[in-house]
Amino acid sequence: MALTFSGNAKAELCRSLPQNHCCALAECFGILLFCNSFSSEAVKITTESRDLAQLLPKLFKRAFGIQFDAFPSMEGKGKLTFQILDPDKIAEIMGAFGFDPEDTVSLHINLAAVEDDCCKNAFLRGAFLAGGSVTDPTKGYHLELATSHQSVAREGYALIQEVLGFAPKSASRGGGQVLYFKSSDQISDFLTFMGASLSAMQVMETKLEKELNNRVNRRCNCDDANTSKVVEAAQEQLSAIRKLRQKGMWDSLPPKLQQAAAAREKNPELSLTDLAALMEPPITKPAMNHRLKKLVEMAKE
Ligand SMILES: [Zn+2]
Repeated sequence: MALTFSGNAKAELCRSLPQNHCCALAECFGILLFCNSFSSEAVKITTESRDLAQLLPKLFKRAFGIQFDAFPSMEGKGKLTFQILDPDKIAEIMGAFGFDPEDTVSLHINLAAVEDDCCKNAFLRGAFLAGGSVTDPTKGYHLELATSHQSVAREGYALIQEVLGFAPKSASRGGGQVLYFKSSDQISDFLTFMGASLSAMQVMETKLEKELNNRVNRRCNCDDANTSKVVEAAQEQLSAIRKLRQKGMWDSLPPKLQQAAAAREKNPELSLTDLAALMEPPITKPAMNHRLKKLVEMAKE
């Protein structure tokens, strides 16, 4: 199955394990705070990304020396769920971030765990891997991170503003919080910051391509041969009608031609089809063309 743009970005981020132990911890921290469930009862991480599924066991081993209690079968299609249910393991994970497993109401981004710059990258990478997605830039610009913890959304907002120099937008959705970006430049910067530079480049290339296409289209519209022909024909008709009036022939025009001439004078910019619709009764485009041609011929006589 072909990967989505989001899936490709995640694959790019999962290519290597973090070098430093501090970063492995920070990446796990991001994953835990943006995954399906992180409480004293259970850790539950659900993902569609095969690449994240490959990385998770190795990452948790490196960060905590801990194994998952429940693994998904990699054979199956669809979502994959990893779980940790052993209270001792959960206590150890909570402890690594300075949380009391008895009191997880106040889960938040412990700034000590993301103090170094290397760890800030790793944390946001983890957040995106577990709770993020990015739309194919050919379809639109949207990158988001979703978390079920209010305080995490608030602190994540501040963290992103601090390290990237711009703030995401935020919204509530289904009892959770979403931080998101809609600007191609910001999405590209965020992907680059996490380490998905190929995906970031794709966003910028798509943007340039779209801009170029727009410019070419605009120019084509201006030079449109059909448009200028329509304008020329209308000018010829208007000068013919003017001549007929000057020659005193207006009153002797057959009513059908008079009606056509009057409509053209009032609507110099209308196409034949639109003019034809104004006739009473309405006529076809060729019939309208015939009437106007007749007027031009009469003016030449
Ligand atoms: Zn680090």
